Amino acid sequence: MIKYLDLKAVTAMHGNEITDAVQRVVAGGWYLLGEHVHHFEQQYAAYIGTRHCIACSNGLDALYLILRAWKQLGMMTDGDEVIVPANTYIASILAITDNRLRPVLVEPDIRTMQIDGKLIERAITPRTRAIMLVHLYGNCAYTDEIADIASRHGLKIIEDNAQAHGCRFCGSTGGKSRLTGSLGDAAAHSFYPGKNLGALGDAGAVTTDDDRLAATIRSIANYGSSKKYVFDYCGRNCRMDEIQAAALSVKLTNLDADNARRREIAAALVDGISNPRITVPLREHWRDAVWHIFPILCTDRDALQQHLTACGVQTLIHYPIPPHRQQCYAGSDLLVLPCEGLPITEQIHNEELSLPCNQVMTDADVQQVIDAVNSF
Ligand SMILES: *Cc1c(COP(=O)(O)O)cnc(C)c1O
Repeated sequence: MIKYLDLKAVTAMHGNEITDAVQRVVAGGWYLLGEHVHHFEQQYAAYIGTRHCIACSNGLDALYLILRAWKQLGMMTDGDEVIVPANTYIASILAITDNRLRPVLVEPDIRTMQIDGKLIERAITPRTRAIMLVHLYGNCAYTDEIADIASRHGLKIIEDNAQAHGCRFCGSTGGKSRLTGSLGDAAAHSFYPGKNLGALGDAGAVTTDDDRLAATIRSIANYGSSKKYVFDYCGRNCRMDEIQAAALSVKLTNLDADNARRREIAAALVDGISNPRITVPLREHWRDAVWHIFPILCTDRDALQQHLTACGVQTLIHYPIPPHRQQCYAGSDLLVLPCEGLPITEQIHNEELSLPCNQVMTDADVQQVIDAVNSF
C-alpha cells in the first residue's frame, strides 16, 4: 500500500536529529518564548528573505493575526473586503470572516488552479482593502499582473503560504527569483505536520518586511502585550512552543532537497500518466510549483479513487466541498459571490483527486502510481 503521506517515514528521514533536538528542549526546562523559537524565527526569515518572522500557533492564526493587525493599525475596518480565491481551504476564508471582514470570492484559472488575475479588477469596490493570494497545492499564485493591480488600487497583498514553503517565483522577466512568503506585504505559513515544512503538531508563522506590522502581530499573538503584564491590545495566545521550533529548525535544513524530490516525482507523473480520462497539471502553468499536492482532474473522480485504492494507492481529495457551499456559511451575509456563480471552483471540487507525491516515495512507488492511473 502506498500511503498518501507517510509521516513516520518523513520524520525518520532525519535520523535522530529531531528526537535529539526535542530532547534538548525537554532537558533545558524552558518551553515558551525562548531561544529555539528565536533561532527558528531568524533562520526562517533569512530563508524566506524577509526582515521579520513571527512564529505562532498555526496557519489559521497567522492569517488571522495579519488582518487583525492591519485593523488595529487603522488600515481596515469591519465590513471591508478582501479578495480571495473561491477554491481554497476553509482557513483562508475563516481568517477573513473572524475579523468581521468580507471575503470576495474570485474564480481560479483552471490551468493553474490559482486565482484568475483577469477577474480580480472587476471584483474591486471602494471597500476593497487587500488581495489574499493562496499558493494552492504549492503552485505560485503571484503574478506581475496582480502586483500591478494591487499597487494601482492601493491594495495590500497577503499571501497564504500554507502549501508552498520553498516555492520560488521566477517572474516573467527572468530577474532574481524570490520565495513565496516574501512577495506581498505579509504572509502566513502553516507548519501543520502534513505540509511541505511540517512540525510535530500545530505551528505557524508570519513573515513580513513591515516593522510596525511585525511588532503589532508579535504583541497581539502574546496577549496584546509588548512588556510583561502591560496590555496594549485585547490580544490572544497564538505562541509557538519551543519543541516545535526546535523540530522545525532541523527540518528546514532539508526543505529544498525535499522539494527537489517532489518536483522530480511530479515531472515523472506528468510524463507517465497518459490516460485520456485524466487531466494532469501542465508544466508551463506549474513551473514554480513545489507540489504540496499533485492534483489531477477526472469527471469520474470517485470511481478513479476506488480503482486506485484497489491498486494499493491511497489518494485524498482537496477539497470535496468548496467554502461557499459549507454549512458554516449558509445564509452568511459576509461572503460575496459573483452573480454568475463559481462554476470553475465547483468543477475543481467535483473532479480533483490528489495523488501521492512526496520525498519518501521510491521510484518504484511512483511507477506503481502511474500504472494504477493508466489502468483506469
Ligand atoms: C493548512 C492550511 C491552512 C491552515 O493552517 P493550519 O496550520 O492548519 O491552521 C491555511 N490555508 C491553507 C491553504 C492551508 O492548506
